[in-house]
Amino acid sequence: MQFPISAELRRRFAEARRVLVLTGAGVSAESGVPTFRGGGNTAVWKGMPIEVISSGQMLERNLPAVWEWFDYRRGVLESSHPNPAHYEIARWQEVFPELTLVTQNVDGLHQKAGSSPLLVVEIHGTAREVTCLTCGERAPMERALARVRAGEEDPACRTCGGILKSATISFGQSLVAEDLRRAERAARACDLMLAIGTKLSVYPIAGVVPVAKESGARVVIVNAEPTEMDALADVVLRGSISALLPRLV
Ligand code: NAD
Repeated sequence: MQFPISAELRRRFAEARRVLVLTGAGVSAESGVPTFRGGGNTAVWKGMPIEVISSGQMLERNLPAVWEWFDYRRGVLESSHPNPAHYEIARWQEVFPELTLVTQNVDGLHQKAGSSPLLVVEIHGTAREVTCLTCGERAPMERALARVRAGEEDPACRTCGGILKSATISFGQSLVAEDLRRAERAARACDLMLAIGTKLSVYPIAGVVPVAKESGARVVIVNAEPTEMDALADVVLRGSISALLPRLV
């Protein structure tokens, strides 16, 4: 179903008590962080699909390209700033009595815009840190990249010598169980769910949308193009996220 932003929709927002917001790469696109697939993007780095380069195995096979990818992404994040959509979502924590913000984004822009880290679930991790595949220790990405720039080909974990990788959830890697449980709890409890800037094609997190719907929540999808779950939404809003969101609440 598709509606313009009607008085009815605004009333639903005003009445919402428990809100779950799920965001995807589209929210950060206007901050200059490219999406992977939206708008016909085919994500390839040095001839390799991003799915391959960000998988853990790649670290043992093609280290220079992987560190170059991390460095490229660090540069993108360093020069990107929250856009009006991030600020609007941050404002919602003052508007709704209960808000959970689950983001598939790894860029930290929600927190930069003022969203409380206590309310944000970074379901696919963060690109701003590295993590050790052996002991799980985390450190700033910038510190690891400084070691690469200083001549280390593959900086190892300072604690145990294990392999470091970006603290993002790679393709094929499991989500953090507690993060997924938190998202699912919020989906079961919410009376309004918004999915913003995501094609809803990445699982298991896309599965929270049907869970919210089956639990009785109104589902609103905001995206520039069709998503895989438009059919179950109560409202689908198409257009620029940063233009649409400030008009909702
Ligand atoms: P996606 O790339 O599959 O889909 C993004 C959607 O946003 C597309 O449908 C696109 O049409 C839409 N979009 C882009 N700009 C928009 C705008 N200004 N207004 C309205 N809609 C807009 O993204 P996804 O579903 O989040 O899945 C990709 C995965 O890749 C995620 O799980 C995430 O972890 C990762 N990723 C993260 C970032 C980031 O951190 N910013 C960037 C790229 C990919």
